[in-house]
Amino acid sequence: MRKLAVWVGLVLLLAGCRPIVGPPSVAPSSAATAGLPGVGDPIFPLLGNTGYDVQHYTLDLTVDAARNLLKGTATLRSEATQPLAAFNLDLLGMNVSAVTIADAPALFARSGQELTITPTAPLDAGAIFTTVVAYDGTPTPLADPELAFIKQGWNNRDGTIFVVSEPGGAMTWYPVNNHPTDKATYTFRITVDEPNVVAANGVLRAEIDLGAQRTYVWEMAQPMASYLATVAIGDFVRIETPGPDGVVIRHYFPPEDVDALTRAFANTGEMVTFYSELVDDYPFDEYGVVMMPFSLGFALETQTLSVFGPEMAMEGVNAHELAHQWFGDAVTLDAWDETWLNEGFATYLQRLWLENELGGDFLDKGMRQYYENLTVFKTPPPGAVEEATLFSEAVYERGAWVLHALRLKIGDDLFWQFLRTYYARFKDGVVSTEDFIATANEVSGDDLTDFLNAWIYDETMPPIPE
Ligand SMILES: [Zn+2]
Repeated sequence: MRKLAVWVGLVLLLAGCRPIVGPPSVAPSSAATAGLPGVGDPIFPLLGNTGYDVQHYTLDLTVDAARNLLKGTATLRSEATQPLAAFNLDLLGMNVSAVTIADAPALFARSGQELTITPTAPLDAGAIFTTVVAYDGTPTPLADPELAFIKQGWNNRDGTIFVVSEPGGAMTWYPVNNHPTDKATYTFRITVDEPNVVAANGVLRAEIDLGAQRTYVWEMAQPMASYLATVAIGDFVRIETPGPDGVVIRHYFPPEDVDALTRAFANTGEMVTFYSELVDDYPFDEYGVVMMPFSLGFALETQTLSVFGPEMAMEGVNAHELAHQWFGDAVTLDAWDETWLNEGFATYLQRLWLENELGGDFLDKGMRQYYENLTVFKTPPPGAVEEATLFSEAVYERGAWVLHALRLKIGDDLFWQFLRTYYARFKDGVVSTEDFIATANEVSGDDLTDFLNAWIYDETMPPIPE
């Protein structure tokens, strides 16, 4: 009950933050105002900004991996969503040396994670404008005590660089509208000293030999949330195999482990086929993992290129991160207290793959065992989680149970139809728990609101549907 109240509060807060409305009785609607320094996320209110929508990021970075120095320019093509007098980007640390808008110098100011930019003249609503930020420094990952297992953002360990930003770390290495509600496409042009190799999201479009240095050009052609942007720099071998329907499977492995890892990840293409038939075509052009030469304690579904620690090289985890490419990456949560919309789906789809491999009633049997555990341990509900429980059992296991309960309630045929409809409707965008429930109601032709709310928000586990 208390969590539901928090959630209602979020809806009101977000409604209050909509940029179109503008402050009442302060200025006529045509007057340009500043965008807000946050989108009002219930957990991270300062992540993201309002007043504009980024369409494309071009990150032109020169990286000295040994010294962990980054010097770059970020070029953002954006659309103003209101008459805009000033706006913010999120950037934590780093030195900003210059900002231009449409090639004209713009004023800028720093405060915490907010980079406030004032164009020489206000931007009209609907204007497409280009912002260039020149910056440099040593990126420092975010160490959030509530999420102690991950240092968010740009990490350098012994000269190997990897980026794992969920939820807020993107702003440690580039200026960004740092919330999933503003997805964009990306070009990465990253120059490193030989013999470092650079992997990033999307497709490797070019390698430019500069002698002692090499530039890698990567293109992420489909929209991507900022927390899913990644770069890995180090000693990696690219292992490429053709996958189903033209999807290229390319992994980046440490040279000493290539043989073992090639075997461990050999059925990735079959998994792509399995999920494609279950849901829809794989949403991107390529897929693979980048394996760190040291343990991380987690794997992350960074778009088209999941980041792994070697201790996570397991079939179930591979299936989990791959499933996220559909649910989490192509269809993304719209607020950080709804991680179950990412993790519940990936956990459930991971078990569907394992059931496909192992046969029998692996999934249902396992789900019922988890049901007992969740009941005994009084695991809290998956909806409206707090910062410390963003990646808790509540989200993974009770999140997966929301889907299993729905499947048991409406039957397999309608459930698969629901899964495909939900995916098709929200692909390349973001989704809320409300959207989830509305889609289930629509596909089933039944009002399942109370039923699903109980599974998502009730403290105790509801009874298993017969
Ligand atoms: Zn996951």
